[in-house]
Amino acid sequence: METSRIAERIRQMAVSATLAMSQKSSELKAAGVDVVNLSVGEPDFDTPSHIKEAAKKAIDENYSHYSPVPGYMSLREAVAEKLRRENKTAFEAAQVVVSTGAKQALSNVILATVNPGDEVVIPVPAWVSYVEMVKLAGATPVLVPAPMEQGFKVTPAQLEAAITDKTRMVMLCSPSNPSGAVYDREEIQGLVEMLARHPRVIILSDEIYEHINYTDDGHVSFGEFPEIADRLVIVNGVSKAYAMTGWRIGYMAGPLEIAKAVTKLQGQTTSGTCSVAQKAAEAAYRGPQECVDEMLAAFRRRRDLIVELAREIPGLKLDMPAGAFYIFPEVSAYLGKGVRVTADDGSETVKEIVTDSDLAMYLLEEAHVATVAGSAFCLPGYLRLSYAASDEQIREAMSRIKAALARLV
Ligand code: PMP
Ligand code: GLU
Repeated sequence: METSRIAERIRQMAVSATLAMSQKSSELKAAGVDVVNLSVGEPDFDTPSHIKEAAKKAIDENYSHYSPVPGYMSLREAVAEKLRRENKTAFEAAQVVVSTGAKQALSNVILATVNPGDEVVIPVPAWVSYVEMVKLAGATPVLVPAPMEQGFKVTPAQLEAAITDKTRMVMLCSPSNPSGAVYDREEIQGLVEMLARHPRVIILSDEIYEHINYTDDGHVSFGEFPEIADRLVIVNGVSKAYAMTGWRIGYMAGPLEIAKAVTKLQGQTTSGTCSVAQKAAEAAYRGPQECVDEMLAAFRRRRDLIVELAREIPGLKLDMPAGAFYIFPEVSAYLGKGVRVTADDGSETVKEIVTDSDLAMYLLEEAHVATVAGSAFCLPGYLRLSYAASDEQIREAMSRIKAALARLV
Protein backbone atom coordinates (compact mmCIF):
# COMPACT_ATOMS: atom_id res chain seq x y z
CA MET A 1 0.00 0.00 0.00
CA GLU A 2 1.33 3.41 -0.95
CA THR A 3 1.70 5.79 1.96
CA SER A 4 2.13 9.52 1.65
CA ARG A 5 4.34 11.69 3.78
CA ILE A 6 2.05 14.60 3.08
CA ALA A 7 -0.61 15.56 5.60
CA GLU A 8 -4.23 15.06 4.71
CA ARG A 9 -4.95 18.79 5.06
CA ILE A 10 -2.49 19.58 2.30
CA ARG A 11 -3.45 16.64 0.12
CA GLN A 12 -7.03 17.92 0.27
CA MET A 13 -5.96 21.46 -0.63
CA ALA A 14 -6.30 22.83 -4.17
CA VAL A 15 -3.24 24.52 -5.67
CA SER A 16 -3.66 28.30 -6.03
CA ALA A 17 -4.84 28.49 -9.66
CA THR A 18 -3.79 32.12 -10.08
CA LEU A 19 -0.23 31.37 -9.05
CA ALA A 20 -0.18 28.05 -10.95
CA MET A 21 -1.24 29.66 -14.23
CA SER A 22 1.30 32.42 -13.76
CA GLN A 23 4.01 29.84 -13.05
CA LYS A 24 3.06 27.89 -16.17
CA SER A 25 3.26 31.05 -18.22
CA SER A 26 6.74 31.85 -16.79
CA GLU A 27 7.92 28.33 -17.65
CA LEU A 28 6.71 28.69 -21.24
CA LYS A 29 8.41 32.10 -21.45
CA ALA A 30 11.66 30.61 -20.14
CA ALA A 31 11.39 27.96 -22.87
CA GLY A 32 11.30 30.75 -25.45
CA VAL A 33 7.52 30.93 -26.05
CA ASP A 34 6.13 34.45 -26.40
CA VAL A 35 3.37 34.27 -23.76
CA VAL A 36 1.11 37.15 -22.74
CA ASN A 37 0.35 36.64 -19.07
CA LEU A 38 -3.10 37.92 -18.10
CA SER A 39 -3.43 35.35 -15.33
CA VAL A 40 -2.00 36.85 -12.18
CA GLY A 41 -3.55 39.94 -10.60
CA GLU A 42 -0.62 42.20 -9.97
CA PRO A 43 0.00 45.83 -10.99
CA ASP A 44 2.72 45.98 -13.65
CA PHE A 45 3.93 49.37 -12.35
CA ASP A 46 7.10 49.80 -10.32
CA THR A 47 6.75 50.79 -6.67
CA PRO A 48 6.75 54.65 -6.45
CA SER A 49 10.20 56.16 -5.76
CA HIS A 50 9.43 57.81 -2.41
CA ILE A 51 8.42 54.38 -1.06
CA LYS A 52 11.60 52.74 -2.33
CA GLU A 53 13.65 55.58 -0.80
CA ALA A 54 12.03 54.96 2.59
CA ALA A 55 13.08 51.31 2.39
CA LYS A 56 16.66 52.22 1.51
CA LYS A 57 16.74 54.61 4.44
CA ALA A 58 15.37 51.91 6.74
CA ILE A 59 18.22 49.59 5.73
CA ASP A 60 20.79 52.34 6.42
CA GLU A 61 19.14 53.07 9.77
CA ASN A 62 19.48 49.39 10.69
CA TYR A 63 15.89 48.28 10.70
CA SER A 64 17.38 44.84 10.64
CA HIS A 65 16.04 43.36 13.86
CA TYR A 66 12.83 41.51 14.65
CA SER A 67 9.89 43.90 14.65
CA PRO A 68 7.14 43.57 17.26
CA VAL A 69 4.89 40.62 16.27
CA PRO A 70 1.89 42.78 15.20
CA GLY A 71 4.17 45.26 13.38
CA TYR A 72 5.87 48.55 14.28
CA MET A 73 3.56 50.82 16.26
CA SER A 74 4.33 53.69 13.85
CA LEU A 75 2.95 51.61 10.94
CA ARG A 76 -0.07 50.44 12.92
CA GLU A 77 -0.78 54.08 13.75
CA ALA A 78 -0.42 55.07 10.09
CA VAL A 79 -2.89 52.31 9.19
CA ALA A 80 -5.36 53.35 11.91
CA GLU A 81 -5.16 56.96 10.65
CA LYS A 82 -5.69 55.79 7.07
CA LEU A 83 -8.72 53.78 8.15
CA ARG A 84 -10.15 56.77 10.05
CA ARG A 85 -9.46 59.21 7.20
CA GLU A 86 -10.54 57.11 4.23
CA ASN A 87 -12.93 54.54 5.69
CA LYS A 88 -14.43 56.43 8.65
CA THR A 89 -13.65 53.62 11.07
CA ALA A 90 -12.91 54.02 14.78
CA PHE A 91 -10.14 51.40 15.01
CA GLU A 92 -7.19 52.24 17.26
CA ALA A 93 -3.63 51.20 16.36
CA ALA A 94 -3.88 48.40 18.96
CA GLN A 95 -6.62 46.84 16.84
CA VAL A 96 -4.37 46.63 13.76
CA VAL A 97 -2.08 43.65 13.07
CA VAL A 98 0.38 43.82 10.17
CA SER A 99 1.16 40.58 8.34
CA THR A 100 2.89 39.14 5.30
CA GLY A 101 0.38 40.39 2.75
CA ALA A 102 -3.38 40.56 2.96
CA LYS A 103 -3.17 36.83 2.26
CA GLN A 104 -1.62 36.05 5.64
CA ALA A 105 -3.94 38.57 7.31
CA LEU A 106 -6.98 36.69 5.94
CA SER A 107 -5.58 33.31 6.85
CA ASN A 108 -4.68 34.53 10.36
CA VAL A 109 -8.17 35.92 11.01
CA ILE A 110 -9.84 32.72 9.83
CA LEU A 111 -7.54 30.45 11.86
CA ALA A 112 -7.93 32.68 14.91
CA THR A 113 -11.73 32.80 14.89
CA VAL A 114 -13.23 29.81 13.08
CA ASN A 115 -13.65 26.40 14.73
CA PRO A 116 -13.76 23.01 12.99
CA GLY A 117 -17.36 22.32 12.00
CA ASP A 118 -18.27 26.01 11.70
CA GLU A 119 -19.70 27.38 8.47
CA VAL A 120 -18.28 30.34 6.58
CA VAL A 121 -20.53 31.97 4.02
CA ILE A 122 -18.82 33.15 0.83
CA PRO A 123 -20.53 34.72 -2.19
CA VAL A 124 -19.01 33.35 -5.40
CA PRO A 125 -17.17 34.03 -7.61
CA ALA A 126 -14.59 34.59 -4.87
CA TRP A 127 -10.83 34.82 -4.82
CA VAL A 128 -9.15 31.41 -5.07
CA SER A 129 -7.73 31.28 -1.56
CA TYR A 130 -10.85 31.95 0.56
CA VAL A 131 -12.30 28.46 0.30
CA GLU A 132 -8.98 26.73 0.92
CA MET A 133 -8.22 28.90 3.96
CA VAL A 134 -11.62 28.06 5.44
CA LYS A 135 -11.08 24.33 4.82
CA LEU A 136 -7.62 24.52 6.39
CA ALA A 137 -9.33 25.76 9.55
CA GLY A 138 -11.53 22.64 9.45
CA ALA A 139 -14.63 24.68 8.67
CA THR A 140 -17.14 24.33 5.84
CA PRO A 141 -17.37 26.96 3.12
CA VAL A 142 -21.00 27.70 2.20
CA LEU A 143 -21.04 29.19 -1.28
CA VAL A 144 -23.73 31.62 -2.43
CA PRO A 145 -23.71 31.96 -6.23
CA ALA A 146 -23.74 35.49 -7.66
CA PRO A 147 -23.60 34.99 -11.43
CA MET A 148 -23.35 37.68 -14.11
CA GLU A 149 -27.16 38.06 -14.39
CA GLN A 150 -27.13 39.61 -10.92
CA GLY A 151 -24.04 41.72 -11.52
CA PHE A 152 -21.90 39.22 -9.56
CA LYS A 153 -23.45 40.58 -6.34
CA VAL A 154 -25.61 38.92 -3.69
CA THR A 155 -28.73 40.44 -2.22
CA PRO A 156 -29.19 40.58 1.57
CA ALA A 157 -31.93 37.93 1.25
CA GLN A 158 -29.66 35.53 -0.66
CA LEU A 159 -26.90 35.95 1.89
CA GLU A 160 -29.28 35.62 4.82
CA ALA A 161 -30.69 32.38 3.40
CA ALA A 162 -27.22 30.84 3.76
CA ILE A 163 -26.81 31.83 7.42
CA THR A 164 -27.52 29.02 9.89
CA ASP A 165 -26.84 28.33 13.58
CA LYS A 166 -23.41 27.09 12.54
CA THR A 167 -22.39 30.24 10.66
CA ARG A 168 -19.31 31.78 12.23
CA MET A 169 -18.29 34.19 9.50
CA VAL A 170 -19.32 35.88 6.27
CA MET A 171 -16.55 36.84 3.85
CA LEU A 172 -17.14 39.77 1.51
CA CYS A 173 -14.95 41.44 -1.10
CA SER A 174 -15.77 44.73 -2.83
CA PRO A 175 -14.34 45.64 -5.32
CA SER A 176 -14.32 41.97 -6.17
CA ASN A 177 -11.62 39.70 -7.42
CA PRO A 178 -12.41 38.10 -9.91
CA SER A 179 -15.55 39.87 -11.16
CA GLY A 180 -14.69 43.54 -10.61
CA ALA A 181 -18.16 44.04 -9.07
CA VAL A 182 -18.54 46.92 -6.62
CA TYR A 183 -21.34 47.17 -4.06
CA ASP A 184 -22.73 50.72 -3.88
CA ARG A 185 -23.68 52.48 -0.65
CA GLU A 186 -27.29 51.38 -0.75
CA GLU A 187 -26.33 47.75 -1.35
CA ILE A 188 -23.81 47.78 1.48
CA GLN A 189 -26.38 49.44 3.73
CA GLY A 190 -28.80 46.61 2.89
CA LEU A 191 -26.20 43.95 3.71
CA VAL A 192 -25.31 45.73 6.96
CA GLU A 193 -28.97 45.91 8.05
CA MET A 194 -29.33 42.18 7.44
CA LEU A 195 -26.03 41.33 9.17
CA ALA A 196 -27.02 43.46 12.16
CA ARG A 197 -29.76 40.86 12.77
CA HIS A 198 -27.09 38.14 13.17
CA PRO A 199 -24.85 39.38 15.97
CA ARG A 200 -22.95 36.08 16.31
CA VAL A 201 -21.57 36.29 12.78
CA ILE A 202 -18.11 37.79 12.20
CA ILE A 203 -17.91 39.92 9.04
CA LEU A 204 -14.59 39.66 7.23
CA SER A 205 -14.37 42.40 4.62
CA ASP A 206 -11.49 42.13 2.15
CA GLU A 207 -11.00 45.69 0.87
CA ILE A 208 -7.66 45.17 -0.91
CA TYR A 209 -9.01 46.70 -4.16
CA GLU A 210 -10.51 49.79 -2.50
CA HIS A 211 -8.43 52.22 -4.55
CA ILE A 212 -9.12 50.49 -7.83
CA ASN A 213 -12.67 51.69 -8.07
CA TYR A 214 -14.06 53.47 -11.17
CA THR A 215 -17.43 54.52 -9.73
CA ASP A 216 -18.31 58.15 -9.04
CA ASP A 217 -19.04 57.40 -5.37
CA GLY A 218 -15.73 55.61 -4.80
CA HIS A 219 -15.16 52.96 -2.17
CA VAL A 220 -17.76 52.31 0.50
CA SER A 221 -16.19 50.47 3.44
CA PHE A 222 -18.08 48.21 5.83
CA GLY A 223 -16.12 50.17 8.45
CA GLU A 224 -18.46 53.13 8.00
CA PHE A 225 -21.36 51.34 9.72
CA PRO A 226 -21.31 51.41 13.54
CA GLU A 227 -24.08 48.81 13.82
CA ILE A 228 -21.62 46.03 12.90
CA ALA A 229 -18.40 47.57 14.26
CA ASP A 230 -18.14 45.17 17.20
CA ARG A 231 -17.61 42.15 14.91
CA LEU A 232 -16.22 43.60 11.72
CA VAL A 233 -12.71 42.72 10.57
CA ILE A 234 -11.29 44.67 7.62
CA VAL A 235 -8.36 43.26 5.64
CA ASN A 236 -6.35 45.49 3.34
CA GLY A 237 -2.75 46.14 2.34
CA VAL A 238 -0.36 47.93 0.03
CA SER A 239 -0.01 45.31 -2.75
CA LYS A 240 -2.59 46.67 -5.18
CA ALA A 241 -2.93 50.39 -4.36
CA TYR A 242 0.82 51.11 -4.27
CA ALA A 243 2.13 48.45 -6.67
CA MET A 244 3.89 46.64 -3.81
CA THR A 245 2.98 42.98 -4.31
CA GLY A 246 6.49 41.71 -3.63
CA TRP A 247 6.94 43.68 -0.41
CA ARG A 248 4.32 41.49 1.26
CA ILE A 249 2.56 43.89 3.61
CA GLY A 250 -1.10 43.56 4.52
CA TYR A 251 -3.09 43.97 7.70
CA MET A 252 -6.26 43.23 9.62
CA ALA A 253 -8.17 45.73 11.73
CA GLY A 254 -10.91 44.48 14.00
CA PRO A 255 -12.08 43.92 17.57
CA LEU A 256 -9.17 43.98 20.06
CA GLU A 257 -9.86 40.39 21.09
CA ILE A 258 -9.38 39.21 17.49
CA ALA A 259 -6.28 41.39 16.99
CA LYS A 260 -4.77 39.79 20.11
CA ALA A 261 -5.63 36.26 18.94
CA VAL A 262 -4.08 36.97 15.53
CA THR A 263 -0.95 38.32 17.22
CA LYS A 264 -0.71 35.14 19.33
CA LEU A 265 -1.00 32.98 16.19
CA GLN A 266 1.51 35.09 14.26
CA GLY A 267 3.89 34.96 17.21
CA GLN A 268 4.00 31.17 16.91
CA THR A 269 4.15 30.99 13.12
CA THR A 270 5.90 33.83 11.29
CA SER A 271 6.67 36.60 13.86
CA GLY A 272 6.44 40.23 12.77
CA THR A 273 6.76 40.63 8.99
CA CYS A 274 9.80 42.10 7.17
CA SER A 275 11.09 45.21 8.99
CA VAL A 276 12.22 47.09 5.88
CA ALA A 277 8.98 46.40 4.03
CA GLN A 278 7.05 47.76 7.02
CA LYS A 279 8.96 51.05 6.82
CA ALA A 280 8.20 51.20 3.09
CA ALA A 281 4.49 50.62 3.77
CA GLU A 282 4.51 53.40 6.34
CA ALA A 283 5.86 55.76 3.67
CA ALA A 284 3.11 54.58 1.33
CA TYR A 285 0.41 55.53 3.84
CA ARG A 286 1.98 58.76 5.08
CA GLY A 287 3.46 60.01 1.79
CA PRO A 288 1.92 61.70 -1.28
CA GLN A 289 -1.08 59.86 -2.70
CA GLU A 290 -0.92 61.08 -6.34
CA CYS A 291 0.64 57.76 -7.40
CA VAL A 292 -2.59 55.98 -6.49
CA ASP A 293 -4.67 58.23 -8.77
CA GLU A 294 -2.15 57.94 -11.60
CA MET A 295 -2.30 54.14 -11.50
CA LEU A 296 -6.10 54.23 -11.30
CA ALA A 297 -6.23 56.41 -14.43
CA ALA A 298 -4.05 53.89 -16.28
CA PHE A 299 -6.19 50.96 -15.09
CA ARG A 300 -9.36 52.79 -16.22
CA ARG A 301 -7.95 53.30 -19.71
CA ARG A 302 -6.94 49.65 -19.92
CA ARG A 303 -10.31 48.51 -18.65
CA ASP A 304 -12.06 50.48 -21.41
CA LEU A 305 -9.65 49.02 -23.97
CA ILE A 306 -9.97 45.38 -22.92
CA VAL A 307 -13.77 45.56 -22.63
CA GLU A 308 -14.02 47.11 -26.10
CA LEU A 309 -11.81 44.36 -27.56
CA ALA A 310 -13.58 41.57 -25.65
CA ARG A 311 -16.94 42.78 -26.97
CA GLU A 312 -15.64 42.26 -30.51
CA ILE A 313 -15.22 38.55 -29.79
CA PRO A 314 -18.41 36.62 -30.66
CA GLY A 315 -19.88 34.62 -27.79
CA LEU A 316 -18.09 36.37 -24.92
CA LYS A 317 -20.57 38.01 -22.56
CA LEU A 318 -19.44 40.74 -20.21
CA ASP A 319 -20.49 43.92 -18.47
CA MET A 320 -18.25 46.87 -17.73
CA PRO A 321 -16.54 46.06 -14.39
CA ALA A 322 -16.69 48.84 -11.79
CA GLY A 323 -13.50 48.00 -9.90
CA ALA A 324 -10.31 45.89 -9.53
CA PHE A 325 -8.33 45.03 -12.68
CA TYR A 326 -10.06 41.98 -14.07
CA ILE A 327 -12.67 41.14 -16.67
CA PHE A 328 -14.67 37.99 -16.03
CA PRO A 329 -16.47 37.14 -19.28
CA GLU A 330 -18.98 34.32 -19.51
CA VAL A 331 -17.61 31.82 -22.04
CA SER A 332 -20.18 29.02 -22.13
CA ALA A 333 -20.71 29.61 -25.90
CA TYR A 334 -17.32 27.92 -26.38
CA LEU A 335 -17.78 24.99 -24.02
CA GLY A 336 -18.69 21.84 -25.92
CA LYS A 337 -16.81 23.02 -28.99
CA GLY A 338 -13.65 21.25 -30.14
CA VAL A 339 -10.13 21.66 -31.44
CA ARG A 340 -9.12 19.94 -34.68
CA VAL A 341 -6.12 17.70 -34.03
CA THR A 342 -4.16 16.23 -36.95
CA ALA A 343 -2.30 12.96 -36.26
CA ASP A 344 1.03 11.98 -37.84
CA ASP A 345 -0.76 9.86 -40.43
CA GLY A 346 -2.77 12.90 -41.51
CA SER A 347 -6.06 11.73 -39.93
CA GLU A 348 -8.08 14.36 -38.15
CA THR A 349 -9.94 14.14 -34.84
CA VAL A 350 -11.73 16.75 -32.77
CA LYS A 351 -10.74 17.16 -29.11
CA GLU A 352 -13.61 18.55 -27.10
CA ILE A 353 -13.32 21.54 -24.81
CA VAL A 354 -15.58 20.53 -21.95
CA THR A 355 -14.78 22.89 -19.08
CA ASP A 356 -13.59 26.45 -18.60
CA SER A 357 -10.25 24.97 -17.43
CA ASP A 358 -9.94 23.15 -20.80
CA LEU A 359 -10.59 26.49 -22.49
CA ALA A 360 -7.96 28.31 -20.38
CA MET A 361 -5.48 25.53 -21.20
CA TYR A 362 -6.33 25.73 -24.91
CA LEU A 363 -5.76 29.51 -24.89
CA LEU A 364 -2.43 29.04 -23.12
CA GLU A 365 -1.21 26.30 -25.44
CA GLU A 366 -2.61 27.56 -28.73
CA ALA A 367 -2.82 31.34 -28.32
CA HIS A 368 -0.06 31.65 -25.71
CA VAL A 369 -2.27 33.78 -23.50
CA ALA A 370 -2.49 32.90 -19.80
CA THR A 371 -5.91 33.37 -18.14
CA VAL A 372 -7.62 31.71 -15.15
CA ALA A 373 -10.76 29.55 -15.37
CA GLY A 374 -13.89 30.70 -13.53
CA SER A 375 -14.07 27.35 -11.74
CA ALA A 376 -10.96 28.35 -9.75
CA PHE A 377 -13.18 31.10 -8.29
CA CYS A 378 -16.02 28.60 -7.67
CA LEU A 379 -18.12 29.87 -10.59
CA PRO A 380 -17.60 27.68 -13.67
CA GLY A 381 -18.35 28.95 -17.17
CA TYR A 382 -16.20 32.07 -17.03
CA LEU A 383 -12.59 33.12 -17.60
CA ARG A 384 -10.68 35.76 -15.64
CA LEU A 385 -8.33 38.06 -17.51
CA SER A 386 -6.20 40.58 -15.64
CA TYR A 387 -5.72 43.90 -17.42
CA ALA A 388 -2.90 45.00 -15.13
CA ALA A 389 -0.81 44.80 -18.29
CA SER A 390 0.37 47.24 -20.98
CA ASP A 391 -1.93 48.41 -23.80
CA GLU A 392 0.19 46.47 -26.30
CA GLN A 393 -0.04 43.27 -24.26
CA ILE A 394 -3.80 43.70 -23.96
CA ARG A 395 -4.21 44.28 -27.73
CA GLU A 396 -1.97 41.33 -28.57
CA ALA A 397 -3.70 38.99 -26.10
CA MET A 398 -7.19 39.86 -27.25
CA SER A 399 -6.32 39.47 -30.92
CA ARG A 400 -4.77 36.05 -30.23
CA ILE A 401 -7.78 34.96 -28.16
CA LYS A 402 -10.17 36.09 -30.89
CA ALA A 403 -8.29 34.12 -33.53
CA ALA A 404 -7.94 31.00 -31.34
CA LEU A 405 -11.63 30.97 -30.39
CA ALA A 406 -12.61 31.39 -34.05
CA ARG A 407 -10.70 28.17 -34.84
CA LEU A 408 -12.90 26.09 -32.52
CA VAL A 409 -15.45 23.89 -34.28
N1 PMP B 1 -7.49 39.40 -1.39
C1 PMP B 1 -7.75 39.45 -2.71
C2 PMP B 1 -9.15 39.55 -3.16
C3 PMP B 1 -6.71 39.41 -3.64
O1 PMP B 1 -6.96 39.44 -4.94
C4 PMP B 1 -5.38 39.29 -3.18
C5 PMP B 1 -4.31 39.21 -4.24
N2 PMP B 1 -3.14 38.82 -3.97
C6 PMP B 1 -5.16 39.25 -1.79
C7 PMP B 1 -6.24 39.31 -0.93
C8 PMP B 1 -3.81 39.11 -1.17
O2 PMP B 1 -2.99 40.19 -1.42
P1 PMP B 1 -1.53 40.32 -0.81
O3 PMP B 1 -1.26 39.10 -0.04
O4 PMP B 1 -0.64 40.51 -1.98
O5 PMP B 1 -1.58 41.55 0.04
N1 GLU C 1 -4.54 38.10 -5.90
C1 GLU C 1 -3.84 37.97 -7.15
C2 GLU C 1 -4.66 37.13 -8.10
O1 GLU C 1 -5.77 36.81 -7.81
C3 GLU C 1 -2.44 37.47 -6.94
C4 GLU C 1 -2.20 35.98 -6.93
C5 GLU C 1 -2.65 35.33 -5.67
O2 GLU C 1 -2.11 35.66 -4.60
O3 GLU C 1 -3.56 34.53 -5.79
O4 GLU C 1 -4.21 36.82 -9.18
